Amino acid sequence: MVIDRRYMGHDMGGWHVESPARIEVLARMLEEDPPVPYRAIEPRPATDEELAFVHERGYIDLVRSTAGKTVPMDADTTAGPKTWETALLAAGGFLESLDRIMDGTVQNAISLVRPPGHHAEPSRAMGFCFFNNVAVGAEHLLRRHGLGRLLIVDWDLHHGNGTERAFYERSDVLYFSVHQSPLYPGTGAARFFGHGEGHGYNLNIPLLSGKGDADYLTIFEKILAPVAAQFGPELILVSAGFDIAAGDPLGGMAVTPAGFGRLTASLMAMAESTAKGRLALVLEGGYDLPALREGVREVLRALGTERDSPSPGGGSPSPSLRLELEEPLRIFRRKWDIPSA
Ligand SMILES: [Zn+2]
Repeated sequence: MVIDRRYMGHDMGGWHVESPARIEVLARMLEEDPPVPYRAIEPRPATDEELAFVHERGYIDLVRSTAGKTVPMDADTTAGPKTWETALLAAGGFLESLDRIMDGTVQNAISLVRPPGHHAEPSRAMGFCFFNNVAVGAEHLLRRHGLGRLLIVDWDLHHGNGTERAFYERSDVLYFSVHQSPLYPGTGAARFFGHGEGHGYNLNIPLLSGKGDADYLTIFEKILAPVAAQFGPELILVSAGFDIAAGDPLGGMAVTPAGFGRLTASLMAMAESTAKGRLALVLEGGYDLPALREGVREVLRALGTERDSPSPGGGSPSPSLRLELEEPLRIFRRKWDIPSA
């Protein structure tokens, strides 16, 4: 696991929900009451070359130029004096976790970093994100570790427009996002299914608010699992947003701490069957501090547990789920064999 109080250095102002306190509550939980023993992975700054896997050099230089200053980058995204160094450490911390997975030190890892990344585009900061940590990590695995097929699962409340854009025309990285819609950033319709070589490798499931554990678990087990089995990723990366938690101020979803544990167990089972168990999560959103802390606690508990079978439970799916999944399923079945539930 990667966590470091230096991730508190990036600060967008006292009232911003994407606050240093997010790392503070996690660090304190891990110091006072860790759910399982874990191996700490020391973060390092990402290099320009690594960021340039995804980002344009001019944009990297632009973010660098904000060091020591306060510079608005987008309506809700501001670089502060320490944002540049913190963002480097966020991407680099995730890369370090991937290296420890690839060298066999650990089988899975979660990187509890800030700022988050999945909205960041090649030359644009947006949605509290500066560098796209998960996309930089995927490129690192392809280019430096020679992997050929990666699955990125994005369970954050919001669609990861930056990650979609990074891999939209490619078949080596399959992007699977479940997100509330309509909501920021407005992208993520199911019809955006990839383009060219990438056609069929960008899977979006927009959902109305109100979904809980059973809805997410149904989607993971009935749709994602068969796609993952056919695609055969060599490592599964996860944009782990805890803004789908019940009580999050930005969202209307209702996932419980136990639900985050079950989703993690479900992904561990997929990783076990195709990816030698290799699973790497990176923190994205999650703005209700107690929900963030308890969600992360259950994810850690799941990651540290020898898996039997993912525990069922969490009640029944929402009555509207079947209808909401009709269009995504019709589109996904052009490429993937997904049995009827
Ligand atoms: Zn989010």
